[in-house]
Amino acid sequence: MALARELAAISRRFYDRSWVLGTSGNFSAVLRRRPLRLAITASAQDKARLRPSQVLQVDERGKVVSRATLRPSAEVMLHVEIVRRRSAGAVLHTHSVWSTLLSDMYAPNGGLEISGYEMLKGLSGVTSHEHREWIPIVDNDQDMDRLARRVGETLERRPDAHGILLRRHGLYTWGDTLADATRHVEILEFLFETIGRSASLGIREVNDHGTATNP
Ligand SMILES: [Zn+2]
Repeated sequence: MALARELAAISRRFYDRSWVLGTSGNFSAVLRRRPLRLAITASAQDKARLRPSQVLQVDERGKVVSRATLRPSAEVMLHVEIVRRRSAGAVLHTHSVWSTLLSDMYAPNGGLEISGYEMLKGLSGVTSHEHREWIPIVDNDQDMDRLARRVGETLERRPDAHGILLRRHGLYTWGDTLADATRHVEILEFLFETIGRSASLGIREVNDHGTATNP
C-alpha cells in the first residue's frame, strides 16, 4: 500500500511536468523477486489523479494476482523484461514531448549519445560529465510481446544503458530503487529537453553518428 501511494505521488509529480499527460505512461516497482510480484499502474488511468487503488499486483507473466477489476498497463511485459534483465527494483515510463521528438530525430542512428553534461552524474554509477551515455531507440510496436522481446535484446546489447527510447512514444528507465528510477527520469528528461532546445536554438547540431555536438 505504501508503494502504491508512492507510485501515485510520482504520477502526480510527472503529470505536473507534462511527462505523462492524459492516461500516458506507466510505473512499476518490485514487491518480491521470487516469485516475481510487481506493483504496476492499471491501464488507462488519468495520471493527474492516479489513486493507490489503481496500482495492481502482477506476476512474471503480467497476470493480476491481487483482487482487482482493473487491467494492468498494456505494456506490463516491458516492465517484467526490464526487471528481469536489469535486476531493477522499479521501472518508470514517460511520454514527454522531448523524448518523443528526439526518439524520432535520432531513430535512423539507432540511438542517441549524450556526453559533456554535468547532469549525467545523476545516473547511477556515472561520476563525470565526460561519460558517454548511449540511449538506444527501438521502433514502436502495438504487439507487446514482440516489443518486449526487442527491448530485451536491446538491453542485452547495451548493458550500460540507463534508459531506452521507443520511437515517437517515450522513455523507459529503471533503477535499483524507486528513488533511483525517479531520479533517472528527471535526469534523462532534463538532458532530452536540453539537447532538443539546443538544436532548435542552433547551439548544437546533429552529426552523422547521431551525437549532439557543438557546431
Ligand atoms: Zn507508453
